[in-house]
Amino acid sequence: MSTTTLPEQLSDTAREFAAREHELLIDGERVAAADGRTFETIDPSSARPITSVALAGPRDVDRAVQAARRALEDSEWATLPAAGRARLINRLADLIEEDAGTFAQLEALDNGKPVKIAKVVDVDGTVRFFRHFAGWCERVFGRVIPVRQPDMLCYTRKEPVGVCGQIIPWNFPMLMASWKLAPALAAGCTVVLKPAEQTPLSALRIGELALEAGIPAGVINVLTGAGETGAALVDHPGVDKIAFTGSTEVGREIGAKTGRALKRVTLELGGKSPNIILPDADLDAAVAGSFQGIYFNTGQACNAGSRLFVHRDQFDKVVAALAARASKSRVGPGLEPNTHLGPLVSQEQHKRVLSYIEAGRAEGAELVTGGGAGAAGDGYFVEPTLFTTGRDDLKIAREEIFGPVLVALPYETLEEVAARANETEYGLAAGVWTRDIGNAHRLASMLKAGSVYINCWGEVDAGAPFGGYKASGLGREHGGEGLEAYLETKTVWTKLA
Ligand code: NAP
Ligand code: MG
Repeated sequence: MSTTTLPEQLSDTAREFAAREHELLIDGERVAAADGRTFETIDPSSARPITSVALAGPRDVDRAVQAARRALEDSEWATLPAAGRARLINRLADLIEEDAGTFAQLEALDNGKPVKIAKVVDVDGTVRFFRHFAGWCERVFGRVIPVRQPDMLCYTRKEPVGVCGQIIPWNFPMLMASWKLAPALAAGCTVVLKPAEQTPLSALRIGELALEAGIPAGVINVLTGAGETGAALVDHPGVDKIAFTGSTEVGREIGAKTGRALKRVTLELGGKSPNIILPDADLDAAVAGSFQGIYFNTGQACNAGSRLFVHRDQFDKVVAALAARASKSRVGPGLEPNTHLGPLVSQEQHKRVLSYIEAGRAEGAELVTGGGAGAAGDGYFVEPTLFTTGRDDLKIAREEIFGPVLVALPYETLEEVAARANETEYGLAAGVWTRDIGNAHRLASMLKAGSVYINCWGEVDAGAPFGGYKASGLGREHGGEGLEAYLETKTVWTKLA
């Protein structure tokens, strides 16, 4: 594959890696798909192909699952003490950190996000997640249970849940890989990871660095491919647990299949998260935070604050301040150092988001700013877009858009806004801006969401549980609760006399 069409900003290392014809990573080996199929990964800033990538089918899924099974049951990984797993995970974190510049460029190229953001959010976050979970390895304890039977020792053991199929989206490619891989490795599981077809590059590189770090072959297998690859992984009887992040639609399907097969499952799905500015808020901070809350990552965040509720008395002022900020944002290619908002990830997402903007206009919402492409070239750009409306029932106020589109809605009372905020099938995140500590925590308890942000938005930490109420998902990731999802509990009874 020629490297001359790749953007000039790429370092030699990033260029060499991006331009390779990428194969699957199965049992520590790079292999072509069994049936030889490939697909192209596209640079969304230019709409040009980057390179070709192997498309895994059911036979590849089977090989990868078998490799993961062998690694789980019959390899040095199976008998490695917890401290050994911690050492390997930390070594992987070190290698990713040393390679941070390359990873940031690969994310900017493949996903379109601004390279500076890729570095501080995606790459640094990935390193932190691996280090956090390396710390858990030696802190997985069973318990001794004080049972009623005399002369009985009853204790629990925590064991790895087994072979994990992990299916991730394209919005934070390597960070999502780390959210999945790190707790699985800490628990002693083995993995078949399926990155999104739009953004396969960084997961493949993490897979290679894992081998370099000394993580045994077969512990992490990376299968690039399409939705059908993910479906084959979900269907494979050798997979013990599925961890999925993506759309609620696919999540429902995976939930139904894993339910029938009685596989373990965790699902991180969509959202339409309400963000509420109370009348006593620090308005400058609320405007700056709410702006970031929706337009960060070009709106492609599951916990984007996409419904903004502002008190009627301050509505015009807040809307004007948001529009002024939007007009100053630079929309452009991810590898340009001055870009604030990169393109959307794909032509499909571009069409989808533009169709929502069209729907907003057609339904009678007022378009305050944005709506157009906002950057030159063939990339999938969309300007930061702001609608106002008094109607919660509009399509743009109900459905997840997953783009830089904010819907601002006026309200009058706290009880009213809490009820309207909860009037959604989703429940991933919610936010409150206020100086009143009582109202802040009243709302925190009233809002039906897995995360509530008070005077901030979108905070993440490897130790803080993350996940959804209602149609936003099942289970939690991060910290002890996230680790638990990769463990089985075994109860051992010993008659002592
Ligand atoms: P998606 O289809 O749910 O994709 C997520 C992952 O699931 C990808 O790896 C995808 O593979 C895989 N997949 C697709 N169909 C599958 C199936 N039947 N069984 C198993 N795995 C399957 O999401 P999308 O189509 O990329 O985006 C559509 C919408 O989903 C977005 O507009 C947004 O609303 C939502 N979304 C949410 C998140 C989130 O963080 N919660 C992330 C991304 C998208 P392929 O990539 O190869 O199709
Ligand atoms: Mg898809």
